Amino acid sequence: MIRRRLFTIASALSLVLCLGMAACWVRSYWVRDNPGKFWSNPMTQTGGFLGLESNRGGLTIQRLSFTMSDRSAFAALTSRIPPHGLYWQRGPVRIERMSPGFWHSMGFGYLNSVSPNQAVRFWTVPYWPAVLILAILPGLWLRRAIRARLALQPYECPACRYNLTGNTSGVCPECGTPVQQRSEATA
Ligand SMILES: [Zn+2]
Repeated sequence: MIRRRLFTIASALSLVLCLGMAACWVRSYWVRDNPGKFWSNPMTQTGGFLGLESNRGGLTIQRLSFTMSDRSAFAALTSRIPPHGLYWQRGPVRIERMSPGFWHSMGFGYLNSVSPNQAVRFWTVPYWPAVLILAILPGLWLRRAIRARLALQPYECPACRYNLTGNTSGVCPECGTPVQQRSEATA
């Protein structure tokens, strides 16, 4: 009974997460969300950001760092960064630079671009496996509920499931199936 209750609670939690994830998935085709945090260090003239982008069915972790030798250019660039560095950009979805291949067609992506003064690393994972995995428990719960619902009860007519409680004629009044033994068993 406790195990059953835990199973129900876990299924409900999983369903909530699954629906939330599915909502993010659908939204990612309409709006591109890109929260993150900028950072900069005037001493070393380095900067960068760490972001999370929801776009076209996937989540991308964005990591970029750069070094600038030009002091005034660095100052001009970092002056546009708010003091806390936090940002949340919203905008139209964008088409990724498509590199063909199986994993890319499944929604996975990886970008690694390193030059002497800039390093960019993007990792993309699709929403669909998470939605699928989170749907397993609710699916099992639903299957069990349907099975319990469909299971023939001892008082039901095996042909039409008519309630035979108190039946003494030995014939189902609904469909005429002989139900001698069953009605005796429940009488
Ligand atoms: Zn019947």
